[in-house]
Amino acid sequence: MTEEQSYDVVVVGGGIAGLVAANRLGQLGRRAVVLEQGSEELYPCNTRYTGGTLHVCMRNVMSDESSHRQAIIDATAGFVTDNLASLIARECQRVVRWLQDEGLGFIKSDGELHHGWVLAPPVTTQPGLDWKGRGGDVLLRTLESHLVKRGGVLVRNTRGRSLIMEQHECRGVVAQQGEREARCRARAVVLAGGGFQANAALVKQYISERPERLKQRSAGTGRGDCLQMASAVGARIVGTHCFYGHLLSRDAMTNDKLWPHPYMDNLATAGIVVGPTGERFVDEGRGGVYMANIIAKLPDPLSTAVIFDQAIWDGPGRTRIVPINPFLPRVGGTLLVAEDLSALAGKLGMESGRLVETVSSYNTAIAAGALSTLNPPRRTSHYQARPITTAPFYAAPACAGITDTMGGIAINEYAQALSEDGSAIRGLYVAGAATGGLEGGPEIGYVGGLVKGGVTGLAAAEHIARHFFPN
Ligand SMILES: Cc1cc2nc3c(=O)[nH]c(=O)nc-3n(C[C@H](O)[C@H](O)[C@H](O)COP(=O)(O)OP(=O)(O)OC[C@H]3O[C@@H](n4cnc5c(N)ncnc54)[C@H](O)[C@@H]3O)c2cc1C
Repeated sequence: MTEEQSYDVVVVGGGIAGLVAANRLGQLGRRAVVLEQGSEELYPCNTRYTGGTLHVCMRNVMSDESSHRQAIIDATAGFVTDNLASLIARECQRVVRWLQDEGLGFIKSDGELHHGWVLAPPVTTQPGLDWKGRGGDVLLRTLESHLVKRGGVLVRNTRGRSLIMEQHECRGVVAQQGEREARCRARAVVLAGGGFQANAALVKQYISERPERLKQRSAGTGRGDCLQMASAVGARIVGTHCFYGHLLSRDAMTNDKLWPHPYMDNLATAGIVVGPTGERFVDEGRGGVYMANIIAKLPDPLSTAVIFDQAIWDGPGRTRIVPINPFLPRVGGTLLVAEDLSALAGKLGMESGRLVETVSSYNTAIAAGALSTLNPPRRTSHYQARPITTAPFYAAPACAGITDTMGGIAINEYAQALSEDGSAIRGLYVAGAATGGLEGGPEIGYVGGLVKGGVTGLAAAEHIARHFFPN
């Protein structure tokens, strides 16, 4: 059975991006329907699971606009175009204020534990998933209730499947509600269904030959529907080769206490990461998001280990809000310990000579200030490289945790979807993790999912209101 309904605007996806867009439309006097595939009252999504830090390139969101803009361009090696970098830089603080005006609270800190503005209440300091009653959950509940007061509605158990196009304009969405098909007509559509991290076929196409050997560090709801719907009507897809994620204990594949926290980035950026032969294969100085991406692209993403010593375990290992020391062994993650590197290689099932040689060359390069001569070279601009010299020595088998894909549907600064020829597709907008071109690039630059969702949600709503409903 097919049912047809009309709204001012249809939004696909009830995460931060979709609910910011729908509420802003409500403030501007427009009635939006949010189609949400989840059927539970507290349907899972990345926004509900979020750590809640609003940041730009891991910097305080309240830093000045021009430094944000430059940080985005630098982090992504120019992949993010000037107009999109300027959009994020200009509007990121407005997102914080807009959320505050909606009654949402933040905790503020300039310290290492919370780098900036974190949705309140923050997640706990315990390992494993913790979302109920936390910042992301509160944000979604609050924005849904405000939407209803503004005349909008969020319809659960409704999965957007295709776009209604008339004379090259997007005029609605065909959705699936159980066995039923619903046609939701509108003047404009906002695609806000998240990334494609939970679609194994798309992950295989764009990111990793072995999607089953990556850990979903996500709610598992980002199935790439929006990317596929937009692609089917000629939208340009960009920047799909990388994702935001972290380096996790390999045991996170089967142990839910080991994701989304604690993660092992701090150990890896202080020590080294080796493949199955005991050799380095990645510049650890580029950080955990970069390393997770490189590991995902290995022939076997479950073949690496982080190598470090007692000083690193007791130093960087104890930092972060859910520190890997002591939680990794405490919740059942593998931590191999040996008095010398040969014995450690034995515990990893590696030939010992190669690992000993790798660590020795790395230590020599640190002492000589010659880390750039290593293969691969090691940067020190963001993370200090520490020698691995203090027994006992440690190895922690690793895996790549994938949280949100960075690429998706190309947009302009009004969040309009772009077609292959670069022109805007009339009536079609994209917000949040479904967008492409706002992060990633050759350096796999991470900009920030919450800020991205808020900024593009506001931009889409305001452009729709101006152009489709002028007073
Ligand atoms: C553990 C964790 C920690 C994080 N920490 C941070 C952090 O501290 N700071 C930060 O900036 N980012 C963080 N992120 C990332 C950030 O939370 C996300 O980037 C952001 O919430 C994405 O918002 P979104 O609205 O685009 O997508 P989502 O929140 O994923 O929402 C998309 C919604 O669309 C629905 N949907 C999908 N397809 C369809 C369809 N076809 N029809 C209808 N509905 C559909 C989904 O069910 C979902 O509810 C974290 C993420 C996780 C998982």
